[in-house]
Amino acid sequence: MGERELSQGAAAAYERKDHTGALSLYIHFPFCVRKCAYCDFLSAPADEETREAYVDALAREIKTAGERIAAQQPGHVQYVDTIYFGGGTPSLMTSAQTDHLLTAVAMSFLVADDAEISAECNPGTADQEKLAAWRSMGINRLSIGAQSFHDDDLKRLGRIHTAAQIGQTFRAARQAGFTNISMDLISSLPGQTTGRAKEDLCSAMALMPEHLSVYSLIIEEDTPFRDMYGSRETAPDPAYLPLPDEDTEREIYHRTWQLLEEGGYRQYEISSAARPGYECFHNIGYWKGHEYLGFGLGAASLYGGARWSNTPDLQEYTEAMSAVPQRDIRRELSVLTEKDRLEEFMFLGLRMTDGISEEVFAKTFGKTADEVYGDVIRKQTEQGMLERSGGRLFFTERGVDISNTLMAEYMF
Ligand code: SF4
Repeated sequence: MGERELSQGAAAAYERKDHTGALSLYIHFPFCVRKCAYCDFLSAPADEETREAYVDALAREIKTAGERIAAQQPGHVQYVDTIYFGGGTPSLMTSAQTDHLLTAVAMSFLVADDAEISAECNPGTADQEKLAAWRSMGINRLSIGAQSFHDDDLKRLGRIHTAAQIGQTFRAARQAGFTNISMDLISSLPGQTTGRAKEDLCSAMALMPEHLSVYSLIIEEDTPFRDMYGSRETAPDPAYLPLPDEDTEREIYHRTWQLLEEGGYRQYEISSAARPGYECFHNIGYWKGHEYLGFGLGAASLYGGARWSNTPDLQEYTEAMSAVPQRDIRRELSVLTEKDRLEEFMFLGLRMTDGISEEVFAKTFGKTADEVYGDVIRKQTEQGMLERSGGRLFFTERGVDISNTLMAEYMF
């Protein structure tokens, strides 16, 4: 698994975040050219008029949030050090729409000069002109949804782009001045062999992005893939390519991180690897339990000791944002109990390969990790799944393999 410490740049950034109480912002753009066959995200196609009305609503939500925070804490301007445009397909936004949203953020929050501002981009939806405009607006990290470099796989997934378009988008991004580019791949695709998975990874690495995330395909409920493949436990329709078996899946996973390590990347989370200093600060904020505000349809927030999700209903969302005064669109609002916070601290923290800091645990909860989770820690350590070193607790390579099962043992 390689060295456990975060790169110096990343470590300094987190330290600053701990001191300043900086906030992360997530901005959801839920529109796509068309729905992919495996996707259960809150996303759908929409016409330009709908998108424009949605962006207006988003800008209003952002401004109101800034005003509320200022009213609750007079004289306090909330400091923001990461912003993430996710979707959906944010690269479908026009430059004017992106500018509108970033201006709303700048008018409502104090954005750090060196804030990490990421945007997801799907090949075939952003040309160099748009990417250059994004760069000039301050977006400094691009996350390209490549998913595969095999055209037949892309077609099967229902993606709108070809493998050639991934390279075109990547080169356009470099030309536009992006020096921090991430790429997403999906592994364990129907019919995928270790050889084909390796080809995908090598094609991505050949472009030399600073960051790579590789997610195993999950067959989600209510998707065309679910109808075609069933769940992994049930037999797929014989008309379709079978999903890789468990052994192949595990082999693909190990080979992936081994190749990335050989290529100079460091796995810092279950599904992500980066060149030193290019870890995604925004996501690390989530895993460290830092506060964030999510704007837009269905977006989740963690703020002021509470968590909630916005309504997933587009009409309700846009109407509520236009109403005077604005209507509350928060759903599933819950105040976090200590039990919730403990579970999340472990559950999210152990996603990272350097795991959780025992000192931060003790400072946060006023008791040691052993006092709360002694039995689980002892059991997992004896089983060779968890390691304790340098004041940290983290999963071993064997532990990462079954991390979902192990994480569940931290739930009360
Ligand atoms: S582009 Fe992404 S969000 Fe949109 S349908 Fe495909 S997988 Fe889902």
